[in-house]
Amino acid sequence: MPRPPSPAVYDVLDERFADLIAPGEELHHLADDCRWAEGPVYVAEDAALYWSDIPNDRLLRYDEASGSVAEHERPAGFCNGHTLDRAGVVIACEHGSRSVVRWWPDGRREVVADRFDGMRFNSPNDVVVASDGSVWFTDPTYGIDSDEEGHASASEVGANHVYRVGVDGGVTAVITDMVQPNGLAFSLDETVLYVADTGVSHVPDGPRHIRRFDVDVASGSITGGGEVWATCPEGVFDGFRLDADGRIWASGLQGVHCYLPDGTLLGTVRLPEVCANVEFGGPDGRTLYMTANTSLYALRLAVSGPTRG
Ligand code: MG
Repeated sequence: MPRPPSPAVYDVLDERFADLIAPGEELHHLADDCRWAEGPVYVAEDAALYWSDIPNDRLLRYDEASGSVAEHERPAGFCNGHTLDRAGVVIACEHGSRSVVRWWPDGRREVVADRFDGMRFNSPNDVVVASDGSVWFTDPTYGIDSDEEGHASASEVGANHVYRVGVDGGVTAVITDMVQPNGLAFSLDETVLYVADTGVSHVPDGPRHIRRFDVDVASGSITGGGEVWATCPEGVFDGFRLDADGRIWASGLQGVHCYLPDGTLLGTVRLPEVCANVEFGGPDGRTLYMTANTSLYALRLAVSGPTRG
C-alpha cells in the first residue's frame, strides 16, 4: 500500500540546486508492489502517468485527479521505456516482441521497427522522438538475457547499438560502440544526444556513465563527440529527462541526480529505493515522477519539464 508523504530529502551540492526545490514539498509514495518499475510517461490529455512493471509484464496507470492506481495492460509485451511522439502519441519499447511500437489513441498497436538488416533487435530499452518525427532508441540485452524481463534468447544482431528509425521506416545504427546503451535524451536544441551506458552490469568495471554526442537530426547522424559526460556517483544511470532549462535529471542508485548541461552535479533527490527512470508531469509540468524498484514516487519541483511541441 502507498505510504503517507514523507519529508523530501536532498543533497545540495551547488547553491543553484536550491532554486529548483519547492520549499515544503514532501515526497509522495504513490504505488508499490512492482518488481521493477520503469518507463514512465505522462499523458497530459489524460492527466495520468503510465509506467512499466517489467518482470510482472504489466503497464500501470496513476490517475492524478483521484490518486488511484490501476493495471492498464497485462500482459504488456514486457514493455520498458515510453515516450510521446510529436503528436502526443505513446511510443513503447517492448522486450517481449523485441520491437518499438506506437499505441494510437484508438488502441491500435503499430510496429515502428522490429529489425535491423533483417535481424531482430535485442530488447529495445528506452526511446526518444526528434522534432522531425524520427525515433531514436537503445537496444541492450536486458530483455533477452533471461526470462525475468522478457524471453531468454540469443542476440541476432550480436551487438548493442543505438538506432534511429526515420519517418520512412528506415533503420540505421547511429551509435555502435556502447556496452549496454540505456536511457537517452536530446538537448533542448537537439544538437546533443545524451546516452547512458549501464555496461557495468555485464563487464567488470564497465561503463556506468552518460556520454554526449553531437547530433544532426536533419541528416539523422552523429557528427562528433562521444566523450563521457558524467559518471554516476553511485550505481548506474538508467533513464533520465531534461527540464525546461536543459538540466538533466538522471536516475541513480538511491535517488535522482540533477546536472547542468556542462556536467556540473547540482544535487540529488534522495529516494529509499533504486531509481530506474523519471518523468515530468502534472498540470504545470512541475511534478517529478520517479519509478524506483517496487514503487512510484512523486515530488513537486520549482522547475518544470520541457514544453511539448
Ligand atoms: Mg532503462
